[in-house]
Amino acid sequence: MPSLVSHPDEVKVVSRRFGLGATDIDKYVELDGYKAVQQAIAKGPEWIITEMKASGLRGRGGAGFPTGMKWSFVPKQSEKPKYVLVNGDESEPGTCKDHVLFLHDPHAVIEGTMIAGLAIGSKLGFIYLRGEYRYLLKIVEKAVADAYAKGFLGKNIFGTGVDFDIITQTGAGAYEVGEESALMESLEGKRGVPRIKPPFPAVVGLYGGPTVINNAETIANAPHILLMGGEAYAKLGSERNGGTRLFGISGHVERPGVYELPMGYNLKRAIYEVAGGIKDGKRLKAVVPGGSSCPVMTADEIDVGLDFDQMGKAGTMLGSGGIVVLDESVSIVEFALRTIAFYQHESCGWCIPCREGTDWIKKTLTRVYNGGGNKKDVDNVQYLAENMLGRTFCPLGDAAAMPTIAFVKKFRKEFEDYIEGHKAGTPIITVEQLV
Ligand code: NAD
Repeated sequence: MPSLVSHPDEVKVVSRRFGLGATDIDKYVELDGYKAVQQAIAKGPEWIITEMKASGLRGRGGAGFPTGMKWSFVPKQSEKPKYVLVNGDESEPGTCKDHVLFLHDPHAVIEGTMIAGLAIGSKLGFIYLRGEYRYLLKIVEKAVADAYAKGFLGKNIFGTGVDFDIITQTGAGAYEVGEESALMESLEGKRGVPRIKPPFPAVVGLYGGPTVINNAETIANAPHILLMGGEAYAKLGSERNGGTRLFGISGHVERPGVYELPMGYNLKRAIYEVAGGIKDGKRLKAVVPGGSSCPVMTADEIDVGLDFDQMGKAGTMLGSGGIVVLDESVSIVEFALRTIAFYQHESCGWCIPCREGTDWIKKTLTRVYNGGGNKKDVDNVQYLAENMLGRTFCPLGDAAAMPTIAFVKKFRKEFEDYIEGHKAGTPIITVEQLV
């Protein structure tokens, strides 16, 4: 997928420096960089949190929790140090937006981390990158080193008497550590399994200290919000969904890429106008609207606004902004199998419903795909997935169950026709091939 695409409907806020050489610190400064953090130092934590709340910014990792509110939950007094943790462990299949952000504008992430630190009274931030994004680490580490060299990080930043440090870290290639509490375990050097919540990280987080953990895009929005004002940012989006967001549109479209669109932008237009429509004039079959954990939408369900509330009302989720477009050539049976194979492989194994449920669904769908299935298998897959829902410590179980349920409910006839038409023979795919 090309890292730089453009369309007239885009409203560029967080992507406004993409392609302009802003990995270079002088260029970043020339393009208004590190102005917002200096304002934040001058105006103080209450002003920062007021602006962040007014912006209506909601978490861009996928859950959509209001950012200003999250920052305000951090206790003012704490015996333990407070931390800011940037979640750059972008791993949701179909999601590729933070990658572009780190590639083109790493200083915005650094500046946002500093702003979050000032808001909650923290002196130390961590930027945690997905293991597979190790090649981006060089870019981020250089940006951090340049910021230290300029006196923007470290002791007495900008000569204001304020101290702030940033440490970078990469994962080792586990999807599970994108879950915030598993990420903190990983950062502390332990096995990346989730913690029980509550307590939420805002109160008991990294090393037991209050911690703001935000997705990289969420954090990178903070400098822009402070510069333009929270209200102005909110007005760019839809009701209760402030601003813009990066959408990675992939699959069978003419112009795949990462586009910044206002919250509430119509999904159908995003596919047919922004991304140029379905490739090679084929028909649209289905859309996975916000990363692989979001329930699939059929072609006649996509006339809906892309924000957390409208997508929820449509029976799916906005998720992490990864829109995967599937044309008529795609076998939903195979797509469902590949999706569950991912979750089975990435399940940390701690919760039984997730560990066993993903495994049984994968085994059943593999048998169906290979021609050995019967109609009862479709019921069994739905039954297994429904019994995983809400029964695991972290959302990985739900993330596997929700799309599975939607695949078998919305495309039941395709599963049944497939079972009818494919008799057992040479396996098309083996379980090993799926991993
Ligand atoms: P969540 O709703 O449990 O929490 C969202 C955030 O709000 C967390 O930071 C949590 O600590 C905070 N929070 C919630 N209630 C709180 C409270 N009462 N007090 C203080 N803080 C509170 O969701 P989640 O488990 O963080 O994320 C799930 C989402 O992640 C899914 O919807 C999916 O879209 C997304 N996801 C994204 C990726 C990716 O690569 N970007 C990968 C997998 C999943």
